[in-house]
Amino acid sequence: MDQERLRALPAVHRLLAESGIAAYCAELGTAVVKQIIDGVLRDVRSDASLSASPVPRFDDIVAMVHLACAHEASQGLVEVLNGTGVLLHTNLGRAPLAQEALEAIRRIGSGYSNLEYDLETGARGSRYERVSSLLRATSGAEDGLVVNNCAAAMFLILDAFAKRREVIVSRSELIEIGGGFRLPDVLTHSGARLVEVGTTNKVYLDDFERALSADTALLLRTHMSNYRIVGFVTNVAPAELAALGRRVGVPVIEDLGSGALIDLAQFGLPHERTVHEAVLDGLDLVAFSGDKLLGGPQAGIIVGRASLISRLRANPLLRALRVDKATLAALAATLQCYSEGRWSAIPLYRMLAAPQHELLERAQGLAENLQRAEIEAQARTMEGCAGGGTLPLAPLPSAGIVIPHAPNRGSNVLASALRKASPPIVVRSEEAGIAIDLRAIPAARDRLLQDAVIGCVRAGTALSCGN
Ligand SMILES: *Cc1c(COP(=O)(O)O)cnc(C)c1O
Repeated sequence: MDQERLRALPAVHRLLAESGIAAYCAELGTAVVKQIIDGVLRDVRSDASLSASPVPRFDDIVAMVHLACAHEASQGLVEVLNGTGVLLHTNLGRAPLAQEALEAIRRIGSGYSNLEYDLETGARGSRYERVSSLLRATSGAEDGLVVNNCAAAMFLILDAFAKRREVIVSRSELIEIGGGFRLPDVLTHSGARLVEVGTTNKVYLDDFERALSADTALLLRTHMSNYRIVGFVTNVAPAELAALGRRVGVPVIEDLGSGALIDLAQFGLPHERTVHEAVLDGLDLVAFSGDKLLGGPQAGIIVGRASLISRLRANPLLRALRVDKATLAALAATLQCYSEGRWSAIPLYRMLAAPQHELLERAQGLAENLQRAEIEAQARTMEGCAGGGTLPLAPLPSAGIVIPHAPNRGSNVLASALRKASPPIVVRSEEAGIAIDLRAIPAARDRLLQDAVIGCVRAGTALSCGN
């Protein structure tokens, strides 16, 4: 190995002083940038010692460090503009939080709080107290409890009531949702035994009744979050199932998934069963997510009969599934918006309520500005969806812009360039071009969106964008 050549490698401090790299120090922290430089120099050294190739020039090493820093910067959590038209996009962080929730996180998170402290007695208190009373008020249930997410909620319920015992589920509801949540597997892992009844399309109350045994722990209903069975179909009404459970003394549970607290029909969407309805139907426990239609932080919420909730509270597994103060603060603030009837404080509902003509007007303004910059963009009505395991078949009338694929540009070049913009923009790819649905993009971000599109198209035309 040529020691002489390697001695020519630039010193770390020289690289750190380069203006582009110094900018990354502000963004990523000097320690991280130093690590990146060390890594690049290590690679250069080992390449040079393996081959007789010359050591790269200073400028090339600077460029390599740049690239590695840019990659690192894109790995952190960054704000993204969601142009997919899917409001509750699990990959994009589901529900944006209300100002009230963000303020609560700031207030509670920046200091100490009475998280597990009873200010009246000075003794240890329960972290679930306040949020439980809000859950009672907003759902109509006797009591409520919060864990990490809805999957954890189901796991806790199964652990508490169904270990080594039987859970009866309709064959039409053996769901798999994203991220590896398959109901039969969750049941097996929790130590419960799955008893399937009925057929894919037809289930009768009688099927449940005949499957009852001394070993039956629960009757379980699950929400068909991401599919529908249509045609020759019979199902058991939730109230009927609840009545059967009461008659035979077996708790009836519903995995509601999204857990709407208000009626979606007011947004022109099909009606979605609400938490309140499930409680009124007599379900003993209802589990749902905090970050789907509730529009709050990631959480799993269980509401229902006080006697059953207190058994869940006493379960040691709860300790492992408990939520942080920031989550509790944000959830309580979100629930408070509902209890005060201020659903429009919740970003999800403001987005759902935006009239299509308003979105179309924004789209037309954007398209005109893009055309002025010589970009072939058209405003168009579109169809988005609620997402997050709600109303899988219900289109959400929306609007946005379409940019046709340029003949000299591969179909996904612009989409890929926009993902690398700052902030990154996630779009929908269509046959004719890319579509940017405006319903999930705040109007205040339109200018940013416009500038990013112009930047990426120009760079793409210059053939340096969208590698
Ligand atoms: C989304 C969903 C879950 C999982 O909820 P997480 O909060 O993501 O854990 C469970 N069950 C149903 C029916 C769902 O739709």
